[in-house]
Amino acid sequence: MNVSDSGIVGTILTDNGFQLVNDTSEADVVLLNTCSIRDNAEKKVKNRIQELNTIKKKRGLIIGILGCMAERLKEDLITNYGVDVVCGVDSYRKIAEAINNSIDSSIALTVLNSQETYEGITPLQINTDAVTAFVSIMRGCENFCSYCVVPYTRGRERSHSVKSIITQCEDLFSKGYREITLLGQNVNSYRFNDGERTTDFADLIKQVAEINPLLRVRFATSHPKDISDRLIDVIASYNNICKAVHLPLQSGSSDVLKRMNRKYTREEYLEKIKRIKATIPDCSISTDIIVGFCGETPEDFEQTLEVMRIVEYDYAFMFAYSQRPDTLAAKKYADDISLQEKNRRLTQLINLQRDLSMASNRRDIGKVYEVMVEEQSKRSADKLFGRNSQNKVVIFDVGDFKKGDYAKVKILDCTSATLFGKTL
Ligand code: SAH
Ligand code: SF4
Repeated sequence: MNVSDSGIVGTILTDNGFQLVNDTSEADVVLLNTCSIRDNAEKKVKNRIQELNTIKKKRGLIIGILGCMAERLKEDLITNYGVDVVCGVDSYRKIAEAINNSIDSSIALTVLNSQETYEGITPLQINTDAVTAFVSIMRGCENFCSYCVVPYTRGRERSHSVKSIITQCEDLFSKGYREITLLGQNVNSYRFNDGERTTDFADLIKQVAEINPLLRVRFATSHPKDISDRLIDVIASYNNICKAVHLPLQSGSSDVLKRMNRKYTREEYLEKIKRIKATIPDCSISTDIIVGFCGETPEDFEQTLEVMRIVEYDYAFMFAYSQRPDTLAAKKYADDISLQEKNRRLTQLINLQRDLSMASNRRDIGKVYEVMVEEQSKRSADKLFGRNSQNKVVIFDVGDFKKGDYAKVKILDCTSATLFGKTL
């Protein structure tokens, strides 16, 4: 989401006479696009602001904070952190003016606007060398998972128009991009009515896939309560819709899920997984998990490990619960698992996932995949880096390929994070 928002800000600023530079040392204005999802993310930004303030003292610099932290901390960033411009997620149309005015006095724009979708602004692709791009299809979230700050910092859910999404994807394809990830906090609740018909996510992804068979399409994230059978069928029936579903579990215990306000049970989640595996047999499945949520007992935690073993995730993002101010959980439940215990559980989770990823990769040895070439491998000049449809990283020998080409690669070896192969 933030990559796409940075692109929107990039377009607005370049249209207003600003110029993008490669390094902070060349910049007169530095904008940090921020995330508030966990306390660690905010701490990192605060350290970076401190570093920027050192530069500011030496030679003058305008420091701007965009994104969720801007929305959450507002004027506090000006009063206590030396920030000049605070611009929240629905105020980017005014960013150029805000920067120009901040020369006289600092400014904070943080009013949320549930109508704003930045229609008509095509995000600047900051890495023009890449063949993969992200396209935001919706903004905001109103699921109110009890641990999560997003509904407060990004406002109400709203979908971008079909026309703007398709135009953007066609444009990216014509510029040489060969993989697009459609982004939203809960893509399955995408809904756009143009006055005549309503388009849902299954309709939308079909339209994107039909732009060209050489364009790969990915998406994130699907909320388990909303992933539809129709979407699963659409993924199965288009070769260029990637066979990779990211379905955040958060916890394997129905009790914890209830307190998290996730609106599905362990059994319902497992049913969805069954349906995905039956319809798309070669689909990889990844997830997000939080450990140490309020009141999580050792038995609850054991149930999470059990679901991981049942599903055999290919990949997982795993986090220790971080209490966020003003969320439902912060108001209602005690953050009662010690940091030490959270970290112990997290380590156990990471170790299990490493074994599951390794086992999954071992099962791929001997198989042949279509891999899209993304770049030269960073580790060795005679190897290429790409991904298969399942979103696994594949390193293989250099052939007569350029970025964006598809190579047929036979998998010969692996680690828990990478597949190694040779082209056929
Ligand atoms: N909209 C997506 C995820 C958005 S945030 C979804 O619903 O799945 C990405 C991940 O951060 C979440 O899936 C969750 O695992 C994690 N996360 C969110 N809030 C958190 C918190 N307070 N503490 C720890 N992890 C958190
Ligand atoms: Fe947060 Fe839940 Fe919305 Fe995801 S679905 S952004 S976890 S509130």
